[in-house]
Amino acid sequence: MKVDFTNTEVAFAPKSNADLKKAYILFKTIANPSVVRFGNKMLNIALKIHFPIDWIVKPTIYNHFCGGETIEESNKSIDKMSSFKVKSILDYSVEGKEEEADIQLAFEETVSAIKNAGTNQAIPFCVFKPTAMGRSIVLEKVSQGAELNEQEKKEELAFRRRVHELCQLAYDVDIPILIDAEHTWYQGIIDEVANAEMAIFNKEKAIVFNTFQMYCHRKLDFLKKSYLMAVEGNYHLGAKFVRGAYMESERARAAAYSYENPIQKDKESTDNAYNEALKFCIENIDKISIFNGTHNEYSSQYFADLMEAKGLQNDDMRCWFSQLYGMSDHISFNLGKAGYNVAKYLPYGPIKHVMPYLLRRAEENTSAAGQSGRELTLLTTEVKRRKLNK
Ligand SMILES: Cc1cc2nc3c(=O)[nH]c(=O)nc-3n(C[C@H](O)[C@H](O)[C@H](O)COP(=O)(O)OP(=O)(O)OC[C@H]3O[C@@H](n4cnc5c(N)ncnc54)[C@H](O)[C@@H]3O)c2cc1C
Repeated sequence: MKVDFTNTEVAFAPKSNADLKKAYILFKTIANPSVVRFGNKMLNIALKIHFPIDWIVKPTIYNHFCGGETIEESNKSIDKMSSFKVKSILDYSVEGKEEEADIQLAFEETVSAIKNAGTNQAIPFCVFKPTAMGRSIVLEKVSQGAELNEQEKKEELAFRRRVHELCQLAYDVDIPILIDAEHTWYQGIIDEVANAEMAIFNKEKAIVFNTFQMYCHRKLDFLKKSYLMAVEGNYHLGAKFVRGAYMESERARAAAYSYENPIQKDKESTDNAYNEALKFCIENIDKISIFNGTHNEYSSQYFADLMEAKGLQNDDMRCWFSQLYGMSDHISFNLGKAGYNVAKYLPYGPIKHVMPYLLRRAEENTSAAGQSGRELTLLTTEVKRRKLNK
């Protein structure tokens, strides 16, 4: 079925006129690269010297891209989106913590989020970032096959135990769990653990989902290999698809250490691999559940077309669409209205700890020709439409 992504009335139905205005000012501001660079610098300085930033960040960029500082505070956004047929995935977005106490805290917070998801119909998935569950250097060393010292060996075991406990809990409360993907140099241990957990918990249906970053030129082959492992192991493959968020750092590191750049040669190759992966999974839907994490209109419509051609219902529980909170509502809410399964990632956490996530969103939206431009056009269309219909 063709989904009308140009319908701004549906896209912005949850937003008041004041919300539209705020969103417009925000995207207009972050569309300017010099403003983002300057803001980024100032915020980093403010964080370093413990200068309070909440008063400026919370009512602006934070409220646009995050649900709240806690699960409870995020409930308002969850309920609101749910009343428009769009569900939420609470994402504890505290990044880059390396102390044992912080890692334990992230683990406990994720446990709370999984338990909470088990009690709320508006939350169909839970999620975690693997680097939040162990020191990144340990994940990197294991992934590269490097020798670990005694302490690091303990940390590797602790990482594996934490991931297993999260998957076990997700299974117990019957809420699928997404394992996010980050830089490729951590991915070895993550793929290995994800496949092992799937073999345990995905016997009846997909509970554990690994993430496939299709900007990596080896990912289509890896997807097919993961599928064969699932067939041989008699379990379901949970496959979350994204294009990939770390292109610049991947390229820079590959150049610095003189190894082959893992990223596709151009955007078109990434797009082709992405859409090919969706096609492969729909063809094998009996054994695969698909989570289509994208703001790309073509890939969203293409997935809907593939579902239709395969004779699947729009709300087939093995097929999900997903966008990030604060972005591409024209895709999320129009898909929801058309009866598809849609859930937005809803980041939450203390303001100062969520800053790396927010700065990434700002940088990603900096190009006026890209995301911001599209958001601004849609917001303007909706403001005009409301004025005409007053
Ligand atoms: C729900 C959700 C969950 C996500 N989870 C993760 C995650 O776990 N891990 C992660 O890494 N990212 C994640 N992302 C971010 C994602 O990887 C993309 O960065 C982002 O969604 C933009 O890609 P797109 O498909 O929306 O659309 P588009 O705007 O069409 O594509 C932009 C993407 O194309 C790729 N690209 C751009 N230029 C080139 C080029 N020259 N050569 C090759 N490739 C190029 C890059 O991946 C870029 O991000 C998530 C996104 C969503 C919506």
